[in-house]
Order: sequence, then structure tokens, then C-alpha cells
Amino acid sequence: MVDDFRFEDIVESAHDIIIVTKPDDGDVARQTIVYVNPAFTVVTGYSRREALGKKAKLLELFEDEAERAEVLTTMKDRLPVKATVRSRKKTGEYHWLNLIIAPLKDLNGEYSYFATIERDVTREQELIDKLEELSKTDPLTGLLNRRALQELAQAEISRFQRTGTPFCLLAIDLDYFKKFNDTWGHTVGDRMLKAVAEKLLNQERDYDYVARTGGEEFCILLADTTLEQAGKAAGRVRKLISNIDIVADEEHVVITPSIGIAEITKSDETLDSVLERADKALYHAKDSGRNCVVSIEDGKLTIVNGTRGASCK
Ligand code: GH3
Ligand code: MG
Ligand code: MG
Repeated sequence: MVDDFRFEDIVESAHDIIIVTKPDDGDVARQTIVYVNPAFTVVTGYSRREALGKKAKLLELFEDEAERAEVLTTMKDRLPVKATVRSRKKTGEYHWLNLIIAPLKDLNGEYSYFATIERDVTREQELIDKLEELSKTDPLTGLLNRRALQELAQAEISRFQRTGTPFCLLAIDLDYFKKFNDTWGHTVGDRMLKAVAEKLLNQERDYDYVARTGGEEFCILLADTTLEQAGKAAGRVRKLISNIDIVADEEHVVITPSIGIAEITKSDETLDSVLERADKALYHAKDSGRNCVVSIEDGKLTIVNGTRGASCK
């Protein structure tokens, strides 16, 4: 049996922060720090002297009000709390902490303290954030990808079902892009895709979403917008893209888009069904000679911008 060591020595040499707090007059919402280990100083920058006797801002670690209330109840019930939270070091710099707040008995067997064990997981959290961002972003243009658009659109669909606030989808496809690549090369093609993305982002309102949904396909979700308003916006987008002028082999290179528009309806439960209609309108724009905007409403297709014929300008 091993019993000739002190547990305090383990706590003192741990890399994890260990803090012991005591509720003021039994009030778990207000607690005073009675112990910190050396790792506390190494990680937070606050000395032991600066910490002891101070209020432990345990609840303030939880930014969300509902979560704070839940943590308080859990602590009152003398149950452990597990969470990952953002906190500030003495320098003001933010860091992420994975923590456990565990009720701690005194020598009489009463729950008189809480032990908080914290591990700095800033590097891991930053990696998670980066991965999450990458999983939502198209690497070439930096726009949202299709999955991210679908996720964001779900909130707009719920809003429409709740309040009737409509939104429209613009399905945009560049005209004869295969030929463009064949003529100018893939690198110039990529430059054009980036230029289109930049233009689309610049005209975007804060509450709209712009995504690259395929090779030379883009999609804009216009929040709080009717089909008529979307028609005008799409007309502007068509001109914006047609006016892009990039130089390759000392020549000015241009492109045109075809655009299909659809508005959310009561029977739409996912973005895909709206997108399907916008795509149908887009095919009609292609069939009508390209470089034009077609809207769809109750199955009826209308050219709303650009004219019928081979050159829709
Ligand atoms: P349409 O007017 O009917 O849309 O004709 P299109 O040639 O644009 O249509 P199609 O779908 O046949 O060709 C799309 C082309 O887009 C094929 C491919 O060469 C090109 N493409 C897809 N992704 C990329 C990319 O990331 N970079 C570049 N440079 N080209 C791409
Ligand atoms: Mg295409
Ligand atoms: Mg195309």
C-alpha cells in the first residue's frame, strides 16, 4: 500500500489549473477563492496572492444566460458541472478552458467547497473553429459552400413559416464556361470565378448569403425579398458579372451569367425544393439564349431581365 505521499503535492505539480472556492454564507452564486495551484498562475498570469480571498467569477464564465442558470442549479444540487468556456488571462488575452466544477466535502463530510479543475484547450478550440470554418467554405472563392448555405437557409425557412417573411433564391450559372476554360486556360477560369465571387460579395447586404454551389455555379439567398424585388436585384447581378473585365494574354476577357429566381412557398420544407425551381428557371434562361434572368412562379417562367434571343444583352 502506498500512503507516504501527500495529495497536495500532486495538485501543486499538476499542469491543470485547480481552484478551490467556498460559497459565501452557503450561497453558491457568490464564492471566494481559498486555494489555487501553481498552474493557475502559469496559465492565467494572476499570482496566488492576487487570487486568494477574491470573488471567484465562476458563473461569469458562462456567457449564455440560460446556461448560467442551469450551471447554478447544478451547483446548488451539488452535482458536477462540465463545460468548455472562454475566459480572459491577466493580459486581457482570451483563452479556452475545459473545466469541471465539482462539489467538495470538508473534513466533517459537509459540501462546503467547490473544486474547479481547468485545462487550457485554446489550441484545440482554435483548430475546431478552423475546421468548422473550412467545412463551410469554398476554398477557391472563400464563399459559403452548398452545405453551409443549406444550414443557414433553414433559419430563413423557419422564419417564413413563422412570420411569412419571404426570401428568394438566385441560381447563377456562368455561360459557356467550358469554352472559356478551353480558350483562356483553367488558371484564367479560376481568376474569373474569384472575380465573380468578389463582385457578388461586395453587393451583398449583411443579411444575404452568397454561396458557390458548384464549379461555375453560384447561389444568392436574398432575405426578406419578394420575387419582384429579386428580379431587380438579379438584373443588377447580371450586369455586375457581365461588366467584370480581367486581362489575360494582354486581352480583356469577359463572361456572362444566366440567372434563375424562385421564391419560397408554403410547401417548401428544405432549401433544395426552392433551389430545384430556381434551377428550372435557370435552364429556361439558358434555353432562351443565356445572359438573362428568368423567374418562376406557380410553374410559370418569365424572362424578367435580358431579352429573348442568342444575345440577351
Ligand atoms: P452553359 O452555358 O450551358 O452553362 O455551358 P458551360 O460550358 O458553362 O457548362 P458546363 O456545365 O458544360 O461546363 C462547366 C465548366 O466549368 C466545366 C469545367 O471546365 C468548368 N469548371 C468547373 N469547376 C471549375 C473550376 O473550379 N475552375 C475552372 N477554371 N473551371 C471550372
Ligand atoms: Mg454549370
Ligand atoms: Mg455554365
